[in-house]
Amino acid sequence: MTREKLYLFDTTLRDGAQMNGVDFTLADKLAIARLLDELGVDYIEAGYPGANPTDTSFFSERRPMRAEVTAFGMTRRPGRSASNDPGLVALLDAQADAICFVAKSWDYHVRVALETTEEEMLASIRDSVRAAKAKGREVLLDCEHFFDGYKAKPAYALACAKAAYDEGARWVVLCDTNGGTLPHEVERIVGEVCAKIPGDHVGIHAHNDTEQAVANSFAAVRAGARQIQGTLNGLGERCGNANLVSIIPTLKLKSEYAGKFEIGVSDESLGRLARVSHALDELLNRAANRHAPYVGESAFATKAGIHASAIVKEPATYEHIAPERVGNRRKLLVSDQSGRSNVLAELDRIGIAIDKNDPRAARLLDEVKEREAIGYAYETADASFELLARRLLGQVPHYFDVEKFDVNVEQRNNAKGERVTVSQAVVKLKVGNDELISVAEGIGPVNALDLALRKDLGKYQSFITGLELTDYRVRILNGGTGAVTRVLIESSDETGDRWTTVGVSANIIDASFQALMDSIVYKLVKSGAPA
Ligand SMILES: [Zn+2]
Repeated sequence: MTREKLYLFDTTLRDGAQMNGVDFTLADKLAIARLLDELGVDYIEAGYPGANPTDTSFFSERRPMRAEVTAFGMTRRPGRSASNDPGLVALLDAQADAICFVAKSWDYHVRVALETTEEEMLASIRDSVRAAKAKGREVLLDCEHFFDGYKAKPAYALACAKAAYDEGARWVVLCDTNGGTLPHEVERIVGEVCAKIPGDHVGIHAHNDTEQAVANSFAAVRAGARQIQGTLNGLGERCGNANLVSIIPTLKLKSEYAGKFEIGVSDESLGRLARVSHALDELLNRAANRHAPYVGESAFATKAGIHASAIVKEPATYEHIAPERVGNRRKLLVSDQSGRSNVLAELDRIGIAIDKNDPRAARLLDEVKEREAIGYAYETADASFELLARRLLGQVPHYFDVEKFDVNVEQRNNAKGERVTVSQAVVKLKVGNDELISVAEGIGPVNALDLALRKDLGKYQSFITGLELTDYRVRILNGGTGAVTRVLIESSDETGDRWTTVGVSANIIDASFQALMDSIVYKLVKSGAPA
């Protein structure tokens, strides 16, 4: 059976960049564009030339990609000719394969925001599409506020889409700009549009304000649309855009879509999806969402004992897809609810061979339960679990001792007379017969302690140079005077591996110290540092 082509349009670099706290440099944009191109999306919307220096320089030269590099911008301003609108001229000059115009398809916005007439808006769409076609560009029109506009005045909303299509635009894209439209409304309205404009020229651009951007995208496809716009990890203004990282595997792995549609993402690229998703978080310097569908660390994690033993026997019992298909992995959580089969399966996964009747497996389980009762969280801190297991089995060399450490926090005036708070840590280590003292200043006590600990590990220093702290989370357990602090530290290294370690104490510095130590020792074990 021949399958129909469904197009993926990524706007991480344009709409995704609207998200609070996201600020891409040119180098970031180029790196993300490469990730997207390797993934196999059809269009990469890279920005709005003329709107800011980064986007302008992105489009100042050709960026050869398999995907169509797309520039975004407005149709010509009301009351001007196409050649007399500097914004439009800059857009037409951008080094792009395609141009995506945005135009208001809600009559209310045309009157109130643009202060012009519907006729003039339609003429602007036609003129702009014509001008871009004359420049040899493929043309798309984003119909802004299409669904709200269609509900208010269907004839005008439709006329916008039709004007672009009739003028030769390759795609008209129906945007749920406010993100408030529900899937059944999307399905009905897109169906009505596709009765007038062929669905293989219709796209959907959904926002996630009711957490249904992905569902809305699929509703549009069911109704006939053949292009989905979205972003990596659902990045975007307010609650984000439709998440391509959820959409792609659904299209590839769910038979309703996989049997009917073909997309540019190969099975092999799909197998790298989790890595692509995490690479974006890395670039944004934020922790990955562990509960993200398909690619999150918890997406295939099972906790309860009876589920875990069933999963070991037959994974399909509790998994909707095989995690490897999207580059994820099955995770059996070792926690106070877990039975022996959990522990054994987890040991097996991390490559520790142990007989299932070995009494040490039972001892490890007891130890995990005891420590979790006082606040440790091994289901998250996989590296601390591995160290606990390897220590019990005598597989962790005694690398070094921390004889003592001292951390202080000082608030004072600096040379400019400004009030500043600084921290300094002093760590005294014993590595073999060598006594080492390291001093470091940090932005806070934990940062100072971390820097001092890793400053000089003597003969082991070369094994930890790639070690980096990527996330630090603190949680107060129990509350009140009996409170203890749990610290989780996420680390990564030069190979791109990431791991989490845990520390628990009534003292936050002590808890942090334990987690830092576990991270360093884990890295030494992982790097095969000799005893
Ligand atoms: Zn948008």
